[in-house]
Amino acid sequence: GVVHQVAYWGDPAVLQKLLDRFPALDLELESAEEAAQEPADIAQGRGHTAFVAALRSQLESRKKAAPSKVSAAASTAMKVPVAAEGQLCNICYMDEHEPDTLGVACDDGHFICSECFSEWVRTETDIELNPQSVIENGGRVTCVCAKASGCKSHAFANKLIAMVVTDDLYERYLRARDYVVGKEAVAGALAKVKEQGSLGAVEQEQIRNLYRKADGSYSAYMCGKCSFGPIDHMACMDLKCHHGEKKSGGAGQINNACPKCKWFAANLSKWPQWDGEFRNIKESDDGPPPVEGLSVPALKDALKLAGLSCGGKKEDLKCRLLAHYEATYGKSAKKQKISSGAGSSS
Ligand SMILES: [Zn+2]
Ligand SMILES: [Zn+2]
Ligand SMILES: [Zn+2]
Ligand SMILES: [Zn+2]
Repeated sequence: GVVHQVAYWGDPAVLQKLLDRFPALDLELESAEEAAQEPADIAQGRGHTAFVAALRSQLESRKKAAPSKVSAAASTAMKVPVAAEGQLCNICYMDEHEPDTLGVACDDGHFICSECFSEWVRTETDIELNPQSVIENGGRVTCVCAKASGCKSHAFANKLIAMVVTDDLYERYLRARDYVVGKEAVAGALAKVKEQGSLGAVEQEQIRNLYRKADGSYSAYMCGKCSFGPIDHMACMDLKCHHGEKKSGGAGQINNACPKCKWFAANLSKWPQWDGEFRNIKESDDGPPPVEGLSVPALKDALKLAGLSCGGKKEDLKCRLLAHYEATYGKSAKKQKISSGAGSSS
């Protein structure tokens, strides 16, 4: 909902504006996922300290106004820790813990003592060591028996984790959740597409989540020729101004062309909006369409699409288009030779 989006942005002024208009807005509404997040979780995971403080003070003043309503919300068995007494921990296999030791239990009653659970949360949120498994789990922490004996319990609720582990560890957990839908995960997933040519359903959904706008359309583009997508052109509206530019550090050139077929249009409005489909398109190394033999109007059309000048003689148009193709297609363009027309070799 809107309150989650606002928490994602983390601007306390926006929160205030929202509350001015909708004073009864539920500030503890959980997002619609299995391991749901409250607005404060989202903001905390993104490091919006001022926003979290503003949200908390709003919640405090509400609790004073209506004390009973809030405490009633957090009462499912999954959302409170359980006493360790008489329970066998499924990690350390101890059934004798210090008095007052707490722990958690999954939906199937598998107990984990708080000390082991903290370590478990730490492992399951390690985006440096286990990025793949963090992504597969959707950033959630499931029962330790899920892998060993196929326990089908739902993931542990945020509220429960927050109650059992330290604040630092809880923030790390929230960061891992954020990582799953974040840019880094997408970059990793897209690299996998390049290597293996396919994406799991989970990864596809993560990428859709990242680009999905409130109206259900996507803030990414797709190729105007082969429909490969998503293509992220970031904020740069004039693609030509960086296209062909050498990257700092010498690692090749910036190439805004379609990574699969090398189609390129300088103007963003020529790029169709991505439709959310992942198409399995083979990278083609056919090289650019032949420049030789193009009529003057066809040359001008191609130059216009590339955002280049259409001035000059046919010879100039050909050279200009070929230079653009070399920047876009790389080596395969160099094979192409153009005849120098009426004997004017340069
Ligand atoms: Zn234990
Ligand atoms: Zn279990
Ligand atoms: Zn393409
Ligand atoms: Zn630019």
